[in-house]
Amino acid sequence: MKFRNFKLVGYVVYGRGCFNQLDEILSPHRKAGQPMVFLVDHFFEGKELPNRIPLRENDVILFADVTTEPKTIYVDELATRLRQEYGSVSGVIGIGGGSTLDLAKAVSLMMNNPGSSADYQGWDLVKFPGVYKVGVPTLSGTGAEVSRTTVLTGPTKKLGMNSDFTPFDQIVLDPELTRDAPVNQRFYTGMDCYIHCIESLEGTFLNEFSKSYGEKALELCRKVFVEKERWDEGSDDQLMMASYAGGMSIAYSQVGVAHAVSYGLSYLLGTKHGIGNCIVMAHLEEFYPAGVREFKYMVEKNQIDIPKGVCHGLTDEQFERMIDVSMGMKPLWENALGKDWETKMTRDRLRSLYEKL
Ligand code: NAD
Ligand code: ZN
Repeated sequence: MKFRNFKLVGYVVYGRGCFNQLDEILSPHRKAGQPMVFLVDHFFEGKELPNRIPLRENDVILFADVTTEPKTIYVDELATRLRQEYGSVSGVIGIGGGSTLDLAKAVSLMMNNPGSSADYQGWDLVKFPGVYKVGVPTLSGTGAEVSRTTVLTGPTKKLGMNSDFTPFDQIVLDPELTRDAPVNQRFYTGMDCYIHCIESLEGTFLNEFSKSYGEKALELCRKVFVEKERWDEGSDDQLMMASYAGGMSIAYSQVGVAHAVSYGLSYLLGTKHGIGNCIVMAHLEEFYPAGVREFKYMVEKNQIDIPKGVCHGLTDEQFERMIDVSMGMKPLWENALGKDWETKMTRDRLRSLYEKL
């Protein structure tokens, strides 16, 4: 048996208002003439947050367009522009949801690796470390702040740049930054974390490392979405730690059925990660009975809209494409159903699951 030996994030700062320490944190990493590049979720354009960014000398703020999930062409465009303008940069700081964090990780890597980010979609293909990179989440749930991947849609696949060079050098976990997230969005991204926990805890790859983090993350999700009458500051604090712990849990296990099916949706229809997982989770009673029951309770209690009928009217060819993408997620299926998963999850069974969504 070969045990996974994985790279973690370098430094972590946590607490309300810790964003104010950013200047001090960045200072030792500044190189003469090379800017720090702040890649900020476009939601914050014209808001107060950009005014709090500690700009020095030729530092730049770029607003990240996250209308769709990150694409390899967008990463390449940003990295090429920065290389042409500055040669290199002191660092890339991603401030935003999972999409912006993934973009920041990918742009950092592409500052020092030749070719297109599409060349590195896969496992351990990245050749050189990126430039210094920092992640500042403004939504909680994806675990992108701790993961060793950056999910990108490329010309032929939706797959991350998985590598030991991918994790952030520093993350800044300031729950205050998630305060203004809209109720539905907060739920979808929060459920990404809840679903990570269920898939990890119910999976065949589970070990005590993964279980310890998964159980804690699940407990925090329950505090936020099951036990509380209404959202409060504490909910933001708890969900940020749930996201971190959920990410640590899947670092040593794997996600499962909801993610495998949701990847197909997202590839074909552009459905966003959090909402796609929610659409799928509602139909997974046969795989995760208790988790699905609780998930439905949380949807109702928090009065969340989950889209229905997203696969109505699709052609056979479109169903086949989604099934191909989903079936390609082998480690997810193996985690969920065991080594003989192919005998359990047939193309016909998957087709009837997609038809229900
Ligand atoms: P997101 O980053 O796609 O953002 C969703 C929406 O919320 C956007 O419109 C954004 O502008 C807005 N937003 C962000 N912060 C806000 C705030 N504080 N207030 C108001 N609006 C805000 O959403 P997400 O669910 O955090 O991330 C999903 C992405 O993360 C997907 O691209 C997915 O592939 C990726 N992901 C990556 C990993 C990983 O390990 N790298 C894991 C899971 C998901
Ligand atoms: Zn996820």
